[in-house]
Amino acid sequence: MATLGNPTNTIAVLQKYKFNFQKKFGQNFLIDTRVLDKIISAADITKDDFVLEIGPGIGTMTQYLCEHARAVAAVEIDKNLIPILEDTLSSYDNVEIIHQDILKMDIERLVREQNQGNPIKVVANLPYYITTPIIMGLFESHVSVQSITIMVQKEVAQRMQAKPGTKDYGALSLAVQYYARPEIVANVPPNCFMPRPNVGSAVIRLTKYQEQPVQVEDEKQLFAFIRASFNQRRKTLVNGLNNASGISYTRDEIVHALQEMGLPANIRGEALTLEQFAQLSNRLSRTG
Ligand code: SAM
Repeated sequence: MATLGNPTNTIAVLQKYKFNFQKKFGQNFLIDTRVLDKIISAADITKDDFVLEIGPGIGTMTQYLCEHARAVAAVEIDKNLIPILEDTLSSYDNVEIIHQDILKMDIERLVREQNQGNPIKVVANLPYYITTPIIMGLFESHVSVQSITIMVQKEVAQRMQAKPGTKDYGALSLAVQYYARPEIVANVPPNCFMPRPNVGSAVIRLTKYQEQPVQVEDEKQLFAFIRASFNQRRKTLVNGLNNASGISYTRDEIVHALQEMGLPANIRGEALTLEQFAQLSNRLSRTG
C-alpha cells in the first residue's frame, strides 16, 4: 500500500472503497506530507512510545505513527473506515484498529493493559465537534498521558494558549493550563485537507504536568469559580460568583478575599491568573 499523505493516493483509496464522507463525524483527511512530518516531530514519537490515535480516518497519519512508535492504538468511530484501515495499515504489525467512540472508551484500561500503565502519547487530527470533551476527558479522567499533540480549529488552539487579559482568555485556557503546558506548533490552512474545512486549523502540543502548577484545596470549586467568572464575561468577578448557583459565598466574603489578595472589588475574571483563581478558591474554602 502506497503512503497516503497526498491527494492522488487519498483519492485512489476513497474511490476503491466508494467512501462517502460523513459530516457528522467531522471528517477532513490530511493530504499534506509536510503537516504530517510536523505533527510527528512535535509529538516527539520514538520507538519506546505507545501512541493513541483518535480518529485515524483512512490511516494517513497512522502510517507515520506506525513507522515511528513502538505500538499504536487507532480508535475510529466510523465502521465504513475499518476495512479501509485494515487495508492501508496491512503492512504494519504494531497497530491495533479499534472500532469505538472515543468518548465511550475505557482509555485507562487500554493504557493499563497495553502499556503497563506507563504514560502514553496521544496524537490526533481531531473531529472538531468534540475537541473539548475529548481533551478534558483525557485530563480529568487522570489517564496516564505524557503529551497530547492535536490538530484543532485555530481559534480553539489560540484559546487554549491564551494568557490573562487577552480576548481569547477564558475557561478553556485555564482548564487546559491547569493540566498542561500548551504550545501551538503549526498553523494549517484548509487546503491541507480533503474535503476542505470552513475554518483554519492549528497543531497544538499539550505537555502534561507531572504535578499541577498551582496548589488547590478543592479542585471542583476552582473549576466552578472559573466557569462562573466566564459565563458572564462582562460582569465583575464578584457578581459572577455571587450569581452562580452552587457557589454559596456571600458578596462580602468574596470582596474580603479579593482585598486580602490585593485585588480590587470590581475586577473581572478575565484579569485573574490561574494562580490567583487558586488562591481565591483556597481563601474562601477556609472561610466556609
Ligand atoms: N486522522 C485522519 C487524517 O488526519 O486524515 C482523519 C481526521 S478527521 C478530522 C477525524 C476522524 O475522527 C474521522 O475519521 C472521524 O470518523 C473520526 N471520529 C469522529 N468522531 C469520533 C469519535 N467519537 N470517536 C472516534 N473517532 C471519531
